[in-house]
Amino acid sequence: MTSQIDYLVRAIAEEANVRALACVTTNVVNEVCLRHETNPLASAALGRAITAGALMGALLKTRQTVALKFEGSGPLEKIIVEAESNGAVRGYVREPKAVLPLKDGKLDVAGGLGRSGLLTVTKDLRMKEPYTGTVQLYTSEIGEDLAYYLMESEQIPSAVGLGVYLEPDGRASAAGGFLIQSLPPSDEAMVDRLVAQIGKLPPVTELFRSGKRPEDLLELIFSGISYRILEKRAIAFRCSCSRERVERALFTLGKRGVEELLEEHGQVEMTCEFCRERYVLTEKDLAWVRGEVQ
Ligand code: ZN
Repeated sequence: MTSQIDYLVRAIAEEANVRALACVTTNVVNEVCLRHETNPLASAALGRAITAGALMGALLKTRQTVALKFEGSGPLEKIIVEAESNGAVRGYVREPKAVLPLKDGKLDVAGGLGRSGLLTVTKDLRMKEPYTGTVQLYTSEIGEDLAYYLMESEQIPSAVGLGVYLEPDGRASAAGGFLIQSLPPSDEAMVDRLVAQIGKLPPVTELFRSGKRPEDLLELIFSGISYRILEKRAIAFRCSCSRERVERALFTLGKRGVEELLEEHGQVEMTCEFCRERYVLTEKDLAWVRGEVQ
């Protein structure tokens, strides 16, 4: 499974006026969790959030981006995920080493995030102002919170299923999910039928672990309802940080600020919070910054 490429399938069921996305994200989830050295609780929560981000990213138009911020009262504190329309996803959790006892034999994602808190969705739609919507966390299980946000803030009735299956060594052997949306004018009878079919689905990770693909997941959801696959696209971990961006960020410190850092440490070190890439800039690297900054 993990050797396969991560991808997302977008489909539409015209007769039901429903759009559907299904994706497998196992490799991205493993890459992100490896970079942040997450404990299993954080891996499960961050993995679900990364998958949620991939699904939301697929609803964007070219060059648009979306950020999901889950902030709760639990020990994980905060999860931030950013996704682009081209399938790039990145994310991190504030406390990757958080630990909680198992709940009913399972990782307690809701307890990890905390039952009270907020989900904030920010979309850069390449317009003057970014679009932002905030809702209370609904169950803190990530998927239901996203569905709640889509209903409350965007007024689109949605069903979201997310899953991460961790092996005893902590690596995900399957991760993925789906997003089903009823578009106006909604066909109530068809929505009821879909809700019933989604309710009967085995866990997403169980399907993927048995060799099923996102296409098979859609087949099960739409069982008996005709639909059309519009697109398949790759999902990949990608971070937009770069050495140049780090240098540019130093501009905000001003010449004095950069000089103080150099005097104190002999070099400037910065770690990207999204991918943990470490940038070290020496006095020589920063000569141009000092030359240009006032
Ligand atoms: Zn980065």
